[in-house]
Amino acid sequence: MLSTLRRIVLEFGQEDELQQALQRMVSQVKRAMQTDCCSIYLADYHYQHFLLMASDGLAKDSLGQTCIGFSEGLVGLVGQREEPLNIANAQEHHDYIHAPEVQEDDLNAFLGTPIIHQRKVLGILTIQQKQARHFSENEEAFLVTLSAQLASAIANAEVKQLLSSQQETSNRVTQLQGIAGAPGIAMSSIVLCQPQADISTVALKKSADTVKQHQRIELAIEKTRKDFQQLSDKLSLFIKDDSLAIFDVYLQLLAQTGLVQEIKEKITLGWRAGSALKLVVEHYIVQFEAIEDSYLKERASDIRDLGNRVLLNLRQQEQETLHLPDNFILLAQDVTASMLAEYQHKGLQGIISLSGSNNSHAAILARSLNIPAIMGVNLVAIEQLHQQFAIIDGYSGELYIHPDEVLRREYQHLLNQEQALTEKVMQVANKPCITPDGRAVELQLNAGLSEGVEHSSKLGALGIGLYRTEIPFMNRSCFPSEHEQTKLYKDVLSAFPKHAVTMRTLDVGGDKSLPYFPIQEDNPFLGWRGIRITLDHPEIFLVQVRAMMRANQRLGNLEIMLPMVSSVEEVDEAIRLINQAYFELKAELKADILEQLIADEKAELKAEKIAQQLVRPKIGIMLEVPSVIFQLEDLAKRVDFFSVGSNDLTQYLLAVDRNNSQVSNLYDAFHPAVLRALNNIAQESARLLVPISLCGELASAPSGALLLLAMGFDKLSMNAHNVPRIKWIIRHVQFSQAQAILAHVLTLSTVKQVHDYLNEQLEQLGLGGFIRAGF
Ligand code: PEP
Ligand code: MG
Repeated sequence: MLSTLRRIVLEFGQEDELQQALQRMVSQVKRAMQTDCCSIYLADYHYQHFLLMASDGLAKDSLGQTCIGFSEGLVGLVGQREEPLNIANAQEHHDYIHAPEVQEDDLNAFLGTPIIHQRKVLGILTIQQKQARHFSENEEAFLVTLSAQLASAIANAEVKQLLSSQQETSNRVTQLQGIAGAPGIAMSSIVLCQPQADISTVALKKSADTVKQHQRIELAIEKTRKDFQQLSDKLSLFIKDDSLAIFDVYLQLLAQTGLVQEIKEKITLGWRAGSALKLVVEHYIVQFEAIEDSYLKERASDIRDLGNRVLLNLRQQEQETLHLPDNFILLAQDVTASMLAEYQHKGLQGIISLSGSNNSHAAILARSLNIPAIMGVNLVAIEQLHQQFAIIDGYSGELYIHPDEVLRREYQHLLNQEQALTEKVMQVANKPCITPDGRAVELQLNAGLSEGVEHSSKLGALGIGLYRTEIPFMNRSCFPSEHEQTKLYKDVLSAFPKHAVTMRTLDVGGDKSLPYFPIQEDNPFLGWRGIRITLDHPEIFLVQVRAMMRANQRLGNLEIMLPMVSSVEEVDEAIRLINQAYFELKAELKADILEQLIADEKAELKAEKIAQQLVRPKIGIMLEVPSVIFQLEDLAKRVDFFSVGSNDLTQYLLAVDRNNSQVSNLYDAFHPAVLRALNNIAQESARLLVPISLCGELASAPSGALLLLAMGFDKLSMNAHNVPRIKWIIRHVQFSQAQAILAHVLTLSTVKQVHDYLNEQLEQLGLGGFIRAGF
């Protein structure tokens, strides 16, 4: 049954037209379930009805014609109840409506299941049978599972259909909803970046130029064959067993028979090379997956891998001629930090990432680069969006493809207002961050995600509150040497010679991996991450902290911060290592000075005196794992400062993966539990006389900054772009007003209440322009 189910879902995705896909699917279900009728109705929210889209069993004339209101009949009932309805004799049910045009008089048994995607009913799948009987539990389970699996495929197919119909016929706007990743507006054409080829994401397309498509596939196959040959030759130097035989299998599959022949036949039928490849490879995958033998079943993944490699080579032919317009919006399955780095200065206006959420590191980086971003947009056929004009609204997460003139003008107006706001806030960049009634808070910079911090000092930040050191570790092929790190850290420390620069020790793991230090885990965010890794590898940790302290020698503004601390022992161990590195460095320094001095009885003393000037930096910890909230007193005895990592604290307190777009609606730093935890931390730190800052994204949210100010945080650290904005806000709100807002927020019970109240307050304070597009 499982393989039938998989086959139906996979083949559904292979159809070019939604209508055909639905029709094929209902016939397959009818056959698989040995019933008399299977139909599918799709919801039309504009007209508030379900439209009969496809059926094998009901009258053909009624397809695309028969509509059932959302609150009418058995179909409407399934939609309203959002659960399956299994009845032996439909015609006796009080909700049954007789619709003569569908000709279902002889059908009695009825089973309907809702197709729900992201909590929204997209349609209803029904099976009917002449014999009056309840469908079995197994039959019901099959239909429920199929509906669940079809949901995202249908959602995607609907969008795809909308896009292509709009391309061909009219200029209708398509509006899609994603997660607001980085605020701002971008208006440009889309450039699709697909570094990893994935056969399942290929949108089926035809081409009139069959000859060219034949040439393309031949070149790609030839290139893939060579790649495999080279890979196999290289690996044979290290691997001596028969596991290399897989390459022979691949090479055989790529020989001019079977699979390749079938791809060429599809091209002759008019398909583009990539589409032909997809159709054939996925057909093979279905066949292999249906085989009982587990060894042969596994070969499905080999075929998929092979298909992806050919696709990659096909894409590379196009990439060579990929033309970047002056301004563009980057679209990718998974926007990465390196993509942002690559395109940042090449006209990048905005980002659309299919995966990720608003606290993924790509979104954080986009915010720090002031590039509007939409994350977690649910689309499969992304190829269709390439070169289409789009507007992204990074405040609301809305994406408009092919916007009409009115919408363009409206957004252009909002964009102008946004630029005016940026100019306005820059007027306070070099003024103190203080409320009109005299409460001061220090604003610092989060740095490290992108290059160059020098210019940021002009935006009015007082030092760096979080320097993420992992990014320089990522863009390389091995760990950087102590010398390289020293040079890099010196540049960062020198950017703010008069202010503290807080450098965080390596925080890899979770969603930040090093290409040369792979970590395979089922639960990476609960696994080997941050300080856990560096304490297990003191050689990496010691090199890093020594490099930091070396860089600090003539500057003296370094502070060291430890990430992902969850226990007191970790802090003790890290401090022991930092002390070890410090004393080694001091001894080394003294030896160096001695060598330069003329040896006399005072030399030793002089050298000792100079070496004494090497100060041990302050050490702090990040409060981002909930356990530390309950050990602040123990920790306060050991460290010089605390800094809350609200991004992770939210994730761990609410048990919501910060990267997972599926649960992004649950991830919210304004959750009452998170706010109460932050308030307790601020009060407890004040009692313990430990300076407290916050360096998560909450600090750069306008209402977040006001709440943190009222809680008593000493410092807020944020990306460069937000420093003048938050300063402007704080300079325009009385501390007493912020305290009153906090007092009320702490009485609220739900995230929605908190947001509604804060938005209302910001509007009343005349600060609405900071949280939405437009004044
Ligand atoms: C945090 O967790 O809030 C934080 C600042 O660190 P990162 O986002 O790098 O995990
Ligand atoms: Mg963190």
